[in-house]
Amino acid sequence: MLPYGRQSIDASDIAAVTDALNSDWLTTGPEVERFETAVAARAGVDHAVSVTSGTAALHVAYAAAGIEPGDEVITTPLTFVATAATAALLGAKIVFADVDPATGNLDPSAVAAAVTERTRVVAGVDYAGVPVDAPALRGITSRHDLLLLEDAAHSIGSTLDGAPVGSLADLTTYSFFPTKNLTTTEGGAVVTADAELAARAVSFKNHGLVRDRAMQRYPDEGPWHQEVHAFGLNYRLPDVLCALGTSQLERLDQFVARRAEIKAAYDEALGDLEGVDIPVAPQGAAPAWHLYPLRVPAERRRSIFDSLREQGIGVQVNYIPAYWHPVFEDLGYQRGMCPVAEEYYRREISLPMFPALTDSDVERVIEATRVAVAG
Ligand SMILES: *Cc1c(COP(=O)(O)O)cnc(C)c1O
Repeated sequence: MLPYGRQSIDASDIAAVTDALNSDWLTTGPEVERFETAVAARAGVDHAVSVTSGTAALHVAYAAAGIEPGDEVITTPLTFVATAATAALLGAKIVFADVDPATGNLDPSAVAAAVTERTRVVAGVDYAGVPVDAPALRGITSRHDLLLLEDAAHSIGSTLDGAPVGSLADLTTYSFFPTKNLTTTEGGAVVTADAELAARAVSFKNHGLVRDRAMQRYPDEGPWHQEVHAFGLNYRLPDVLCALGTSQLERLDQFVARRAEIKAAYDEALGDLEGVDIPVAPQGAAPAWHLYPLRVPAERRRSIFDSLREQGIGVQVNYIPAYWHPVFEDLGYQRGMCPVAEEYYRREISLPMFPALTDSDVERVIEATRVAVAG
């Protein structure tokens, strides 16, 4: 079965990991800083905080934003549940806003309509790699004094009007899970231009420890002294994995270029199929296509999906609307709330999309898709 996503590991990655394993530092060493510096440079901002997953990155970002019980976070239902779950764990009320039918990204007018006195953060997701409409969302967040968080689990390597994802929002989170645009096995990062948000992120990912003597309440305790001023967790990404990340980052442009070739080949071969919509990017966006979300007639989605799987094509569906999860249903969220996102979901099938797909793999996917759609 051809998977829908897969990592690309080469000899240079393996050498980087081996070197890290042979070094004095398995964790909290120089590879962490090296990776964070490279991630920040790629994001076009001063601060990158590496963590153990994209989910940890979201948790850290919401904590850095100061999310507390009673605060509201506006987000999209067309995402992996972690975008909402991590804010809910901090006590936030999740408010789902509907998406744009063309891109599946947060619709700024729906976001504007959802803002209340208690809103603190707007959290967009760069669905399939397409950057959110950051200028429009920033207009809303600056007008109401909110923070814009961009869940860029799909979109490291994407740009909007020439600006890299990572520089578009107040806080941006990446995932480095194997299917994503680059991998550290498990891993993630938070990037920001704001030194204060970065400091709070660093603190939360490392137990809330305060080691700077100038900041300590009781610095005279002794040289062993450290203090905790706010509760935190251990979300530290080890040197071994950071070394893999730095090595992968060097090939990100290649990965993005190959994804673009595959996207173009699919578009060309599938764009004329009856009842089928191919993914589109808005003017000014240059996505690193993480997914290839094809949309087929809703009533035929299941049979097309099953046919593709039977033909050995490991298609996926991204995503079940987040508030359909029983955990949200039990809190009173009802189906039908965001009809555009639900319609997007009902029609969606993600075709295989990863740099290691060969041209003949791509041909195979195209043929199988034409067969499945023809029914
Ligand atoms: C993958 C993903 C996450 C979670 O990342 P992990 O590294 O798997 O924890 C969060 N949001 C979106 C949109 C994702 O695709």
